[in-house]
Amino acid sequence: MDKLISNAEPPPLPSELADDEEAQNLHNKLLALRKHMVLIFKGNLSQDITERGYIAGLLKSHLANLRHLTWQVEQVAKGDFSQRVDFMGDFSEAFNHMASQLDVTLKELKETEEALRNLTGSLSQEVRARTVAVHNLKQSEARFKYLAEHDPLTNALNRRSFFNLVESEFKAARIKNAPCCIAMLDIDFFKKINDIHGHNIGDLALKHVVSLSSASLRHADRMGRYGGEEFLFFFADADLEQGTRAAERIRKSIAENRMKLPSGKLPMTVSLGVSIVLPEWPGERDNAFLQQIVAMADAALYQAKQSGRNRVCAAPIAPPAPETVVANKK
Ligand code: GH3
Ligand code: MG
Ligand code: MG
Repeated sequence: MDKLISNAEPPPLPSELADDEEAQNLHNKLLALRKHMVLIFKGNLSQDITERGYIAGLLKSHLANLRHLTWQVEQVAKGDFSQRVDFMGDFSEAFNHMASQLDVTLKELKETEEALRNLTGSLSQEVRARTVAVHNLKQSEARFKYLAEHDPLTNALNRRSFFNLVESEFKAARIKNAPCCIAMLDIDFFKKINDIHGHNIGDLALKHVVSLSSASLRHADRMGRYGGEEFLFFFADADLEQGTRAAERIRKSIAENRMKLPSGKLPMTVSLGVSIVLPEWPGERDNAFLQQIVAMADAALYQAKQSGRNRVCAAPIAPPAPETVVANKK
């Protein structure tokens, strides 16, 4: 506009149109219009009212269009891509193309978002299913491990897992420089219990013995079923006197807490033999060594049986002789 105002001389009509009357008229009209516009933009409103009105009308309608365009741009910014412009030539085309492209892109984005949401949903379902499967597997593993390590009737450790555990306990005791004891328990006249009351009551009596025995153990002590109605104990951090006392507690508890039967209470006693392991004794703390210590407890148990049952006998405090034969009277 500044250029239009400052440019005093407008371009002349091209010479090839000089004889064209219509072109000449149009040129003159445009020159007149230009003159009026220059005056209006310079602030001179003294021209003929018709020409002023026409130009003002043009400007007004242009301003209204621009205001509408501003509103349309705002609508597009808010996500309404249906807006179309039809009054500005190339700009309209570019604007309409942009709006329809944005519309397409938004639709594609929404589809992608929906697909992602579905995918996330099925992934979380998958993760949940797998978590449950892993949990079940861990439970089964724990259950199998428990079954492999425990006696199914009494839930005491079975012989193999008791031996494995106590072998490690022996090694730990030696490192700690602490004594420890093994005790073997055998129910007195158990055959009679079976004969008089039947095997089912015999089974319940075995459970009763395990329940009372484990109740009198300390946290670090261990109990396992050796076989039949014989059980083994490991007393941690115990010299022979303490081990004997622990065995005596078990004996007393069983003698005093009779199992309830429909017909009354079942009298039952047990005998125990106790052997000790001192940390300074030579030899590997391996399975063979443990077997020898168990054999010494078994010999003490035999003594308890010989001297009247319902009692505890202790083995002598001496390392097992290398040639000790492991007794197996089971
Ligand atoms: P003692 O005082 O000399 O030990 O006499 P006892 O009758 O206990 O003699 P023994 O050790 O020879 O008998 C053990 C009996 O335990 C023999 C067997 O039938 C019984 N027994 C072994 N395992 C089980 C079991 O799981 N359930 C039941 N009910 N009885 C069992
Ligand atoms: Mg026996
Ligand atoms: Mg017995």
